[in-house]
Amino acid sequence: NTSLHELDPEIAAAVDAELGRQQSTLEMIASENFAPLAVMEAQGSVLTNKYAEGYPGRRYYGGCEHVDVAEQIAIDRVKELFGAAYANVQPHSGASANQAALFALAQPGDTILGLDLAHGGHLTHGMRLNFSGKQFDVVAYHVDDAGLVDMAEVERLAKEHRPKVIIAGWSAYPRQLDFAEFRRIADEVEAYLWVDMAHFAGLVAAGLHPNPVPYADVVTSTTHKTLGGPRGGIILARGTDFAKKLNSSVFPGFQGGPLEHVIAAKAVSFKVAAGEEFKERQRRTVEGARILAERLTAADAREAGVNVLSGGTDVHLLLVDLRESELDGQQAEDRLHEIGITVNRNAVPNDPRPPMVTSGLRIGTPALATRGFTAEDFAEVADVIAEALKPSYDAAGLKARVEALADKHPLYPGLNK
Ligand code: PLP
Repeated sequence: NTSLHELDPEIAAAVDAELGRQQSTLEMIASENFAPLAVMEAQGSVLTNKYAEGYPGRRYYGGCEHVDVAEQIAIDRVKELFGAAYANVQPHSGASANQAALFALAQPGDTILGLDLAHGGHLTHGMRLNFSGKQFDVVAYHVDDAGLVDMAEVERLAKEHRPKVIIAGWSAYPRQLDFAEFRRIADEVEAYLWVDMAHFAGLVAAGLHPNPVPYADVVTSTTHKTLGGPRGGIILARGTDFAKKLNSSVFPGFQGGPLEHVIAAKAVSFKVAAGEEFKERQRRTVEGARILAERLTAADAREAGVNVLSGGTDVHLLLVDLRESELDGQQAEDRLHEIGITVNRNAVPNDPRPPMVTSGLRIGTPALATRGFTAEDFAEVADVIAEALKPSYDAAGLKARVEALADKHPLYPGLNK
């Protein structure tokens, strides 16, 4: 019964310090969010103690009657949320879901066609050092000069290389994809279509973004980005054709015992995501990103060499292009960090700088929207960022404005000891 603080003060101190960091700064990493206390309660529950290899009703361990209930609720809720006929809620992470999905659809050595990492794709979509790049023959498509996915190139490459799988999805892209067009191309070359909606799943759940489920053979997602749940992955499908293959690819293919405490937390987050409050939050998320994009394309920002890729955003993030700025991505990230705003530097297409430096920033609004930020608050955040990216800036003044915003929207107030 010893508490964490008593048993392990060093780790307790790190956890407390991280809580303080989350409370006192503005989290604008596009892939992050704040899970509700109820989600963290489920995640920190006794379900962590249970082995449950297998699936509800067909386990390789005894005593699974209660985790079966929780996992089945998670499956039913996520199917309902996205209109899917099949769901697997066991993947430990987005990358695990992607690995299981890819190996269910294709064999090592097969050709896959995905968005280039440097143009906004994810590591698991065919990056050289990732399993996807090492074990599959990768062909990459790109964004065009306007910053939009080049569908003509997708079609040309699909016809030329006849991939087994076409991957639609992204980690850094500010627009919506045309799933119907991806489906048409996939059908034309007899490829499977896999959509990775990790980033925009929350927007889909809220009806603010087209749902890929009716178009794709398989859809994967994380549960911790816009969806706002615990860190983890899911696999969905519009039909049950791949159900057996997908299930056995997750377990026993790549995973052993599922994380039933995380699965219970996923179930809680799916319940939250089906509600009106969640929709309202996702609306503020998208609105906030639009406000930021508008502010960072204003005349004074442009004068400082700041541009926004594709000229704006339809989703929860925007990509700042610093190729014409005095600042590189690293310097801009450091400046914002100095005043209490956390973002990540990000390569822009055809980036002249190396990946550890880059010429861009990825800025996202999900975490601040969860914190309660309104359009007015996002306008103030946008002004602070625009000022911070100018050649000269008042760090102390901007930091005070950030602190005022953080104080206005307390985060996890009940957690302070
Ligand atoms: N897919 C996409 C599109 C992502 O952006 C990410 C994470 O950034 C992942 C998959 C991987 O998720 P995880 O970090 O949980 O493995």
